[in-house]
This record gives sequence, C-alpha cells and structure tokens, in this order.
Amino acid sequence: MRPSETPPWSLDVMQSRVADVVRHAVDVGALGADHPVAGFIDTDGVRDSVADLHEAFGPGVLHTFAAKAASLIPVLRLLATEGMGCEVASSGELRIALDAGFDPATIVFDSPAKTREELAQALALGVAVNADNLDELRRIDVLRPDGCASVVGLRVNPQVGSGSIGAMSTATATSKFGVALRDPGAREAVVRAFATRPWLTRLHAHVGSQGCPLDLIAAGIAETYRLAEEINATLGRRQVTSLDIGGGLPVNFAGDEVTPAFADYVAALRAAVPDLFDGRYALVTEFGRALLAKNGFIGALVEYTKEAGGRRIAITHAGAHVATRTVFMPDAWPLRVGAYDAKGRPKQGPALAQDVAGPCCFAGDVVAHGRELPELEEGDVVVLHDTGAYYFSTPWAYNSLPYPAVQGFTITEEGVRLALIREAQTLDEIAASSGLAHAGALVTGAFARTAC
Ligand SMILES: *Cc1c(COP(=O)(O)O)cnc(C)c1O
Repeated sequence: MRPSETPPWSLDVMQSRVADVVRHAVDVGALGADHPVAGFIDTDGVRDSVADLHEAFGPGVLHTFAAKAASLIPVLRLLATEGMGCEVASSGELRIALDAGFDPATIVFDSPAKTREELAQALALGVAVNADNLDELRRIDVLRPDGCASVVGLRVNPQVGSGSIGAMSTATATSKFGVALRDPGAREAVVRAFATRPWLTRLHAHVGSQGCPLDLIAAGIAETYRLAEEINATLGRRQVTSLDIGGGLPVNFAGDEVTPAFADYVAALRAAVPDLFDGRYALVTEFGRALLAKNGFIGALVEYTKEAGGRRIAITHAGAHVATRTVFMPDAWPLRVGAYDAKGRPKQGPALAQDVAGPCCFAGDVVAHGRELPELEEGDVVVLHDTGAYYFSTPWAYNSLPYPAVQGFTITEEGVRLALIREAQTLDEIAASSGLAHAGALVTGAFARTAC
C-alpha cells in the first residue's frame, strides 16, 4: 500500500487508506454478513508500483508480471494497460493473460512441465518460451513452425544457493528448475545447444523469491550474464540477444515501508554486473510479489471469540483457504493483523495476546499466534495486511469454502470507490466443481471402459 506522494512514505497515510477502505466496505456491505471475508486491491498503489519499476530500470526493458501472483483478469488488464507484459506457467495462466488483453509478443511462457500441446500453442501464438531443460528444446526442434515469431530461451539454474525459505529458493544445487549449470558437463551442453539452434537467443534465470537476499539474486544473474558472454564468444556471433532475469524481489511483511525498493534491486544488479545495462542485451523481468503484495489486503469478520487453556482465540473467516502459506509456514510467512470494530473503525484499547484463527476444520488453521491486539469481539473485522499477491487471488478449496469476492479500490476527493474484480464463489459453483454433474457416477454401476 503506497500513497501517491512518494517518497518519503507517510506511514500514517498508508494505514489510513486501509482504514478508509475497511470503513467504506463495511458501510456498503462488501464486508459483513454477505461477505464475511473479501480481498481488496489498491489500484492507485498498483499503478505507483509499476511506475516505480519502470523508473528503476529505465526505458527499453520488458517487465512481465508473474500471473500466479495475482491471477485475476481485471488486475492483469490493469497491468497490461500500464505497459507490462505477462509471465505465465500453465495453459490456464496463458488463457487469462490473453483474456486480459496482453499482446502475445509480451507474454513469456515458463513452466517445468510444458506439454507438447502447450508448446505448440505458445509457438503458434508468438508467445516467448523459456525451455526448462534440454529435452524440452528437443521438443521445440520438432514443434517450432516455419517463420515462428516466438523468442525462445533456455532457463538455467546458476546454483548460487538458498535463501531463508527453502521452498522459495530456485537456485539450489538440486532445484527442479532449469539446467543446473555447475553440474559436470552442463555448461558445455548448454553452449552446444545454442550452437546448433540459431533461433535460441535468450537465457533465463529466476533465482528465487521471498527470503532470497538481493546479492544472492544478483549473483545468479551475474552468472547468467557470464554464460551469455561465453556462448556468444564461443560461437563468434551475438546469438544471445536477451536476458530474462526473472522476478523474486522480496517484500517487507513487517511494516509499511517498501523495502527493498526496485531501485535497490537495480543498484545491486549494477554492482554485481556492471555491464548488464549497457544495452547489448535486451532485458526481461518477471516480478510478481513485489508489485502486488503491499497493494492488497484481506478483511474478515470475527464470528466468535473464546478461551482455551488460558489462550484467547478469535475465530474469523480468513484461514488457510485464503492464507495458505501463512497457516502452514507461520514463521516464514508472518502477516501483520489490524483490528477494526463492527463499524469498520480502528479498534482502540489495551493490547491482549490473541490467536487469530480461521474457519477451516483443522487445528492449525491460525493466521497469527499470540498476537498483541486490542481485544477482538464478535462482529469485529480483522485485516491481514500485504496480501495482494498469492493470498486471496490463489484460494484453496479446503472445506468447500467459497473463493472470496475481490474488490479493487481507489480513493479520490469524493472518498473510497470500489470495483468488483471477482464475485465470491456461489454454492452452485461449489457444487459444480465438486462433481455435481456426475452425482450418481459411483452408485449406478455405469462404469465405462474408457474415460469420457
Ligand atoms: C513465481 C515466479 C516469478 C515471480 O516471483 P515473485 O517472487 O512473485 O516475484 C517469476 N518467474 C518465475 C519463473 C516464477 O516461477
């Protein structure tokens, strides 16, 4: 969440933006009995973040948004309108990127498991493809049509090591992504792969995400840059013309400050790879979390409060279905929680240690343990801050809980305005996605010999 008059940030302004939106959402029923949990996206903040990204890197860089970080078509369309491309990693993401209106030439297809059909579709559309491995390149050899407009790259794993969250670190020795560059013979095999494929013109590395320090990411990109230079020198021609340096800028979940900023990241890159920005290589980026996380929040009603074993617990409607990583890895993904009363006003009062729990039927469904907050009561609202990426936009269908509604907001002189981005899932939709059309399939004896 960022005010438009930056820098410096005014933290009060950011907190008051959230407070204004919570108050308004409660007033108009976007948060309340009909919507006990909802996601909110700050469209002004998203525009500011994209502007920061463009400014930090300067002109001529293709910035693609990692669709998995906020897989919502209206959000993607906003980003397309702001001059971004899109990074996709499945047919579903490719579909919503196209529906959002991205020009195929600005879409990058990454995935470690692309099927032949997916590759053929991407190559026919002119979407850029980053092959994950040499076997995938051999598939592309066969599938690539004459006159193919797609830029084709190869993902490498510079094996520079792990950040603080293993599951988010893609450049470990044994990561499943890319060609592991330091393995015996790998570098030579990569050079040969380029030598025999004049259309292979890009190197791709995404070193890691949340928990990876900037110098680790920069070291991975430096390694990738050196490989590009080596390939071009060995081939005696400038075949590698672009570098896709991935995303992964970490986000500060502990406070309102946007730190590190995109400008800090660019400074780290300049330090590690002074020639990266000299224009010899076109650059592509794939940021997700750093663009959206701080531009969104979850609001949820407190349904009950109770005490158990001397512990105070607030049962809310935001749990593992909208905050999956936080619930399962609370130390790696802590969230700030805000307390609001039933009218959507910030709660005052002495701090009391409380568990903020969700509605899912398993004991670990707690989004914050022993958090010091004003005493929560039935009907209050809690806010989970910095959840604009990978939270409500990536719901988990546990307990047949519905996907929550998502609202975009803007704040003008006239006050808060909301725009619906996604409706809450209906009971009919839950039933349909739970096999309603095949309700009798297991009891009628109508098993078929072939799947249909
Ligand atoms: C997830 C992912 C990204 C985006 O990562 P963030 O941490 O959200 O910036 C970029 N590129 C690839 C290949 C990814 O898998």
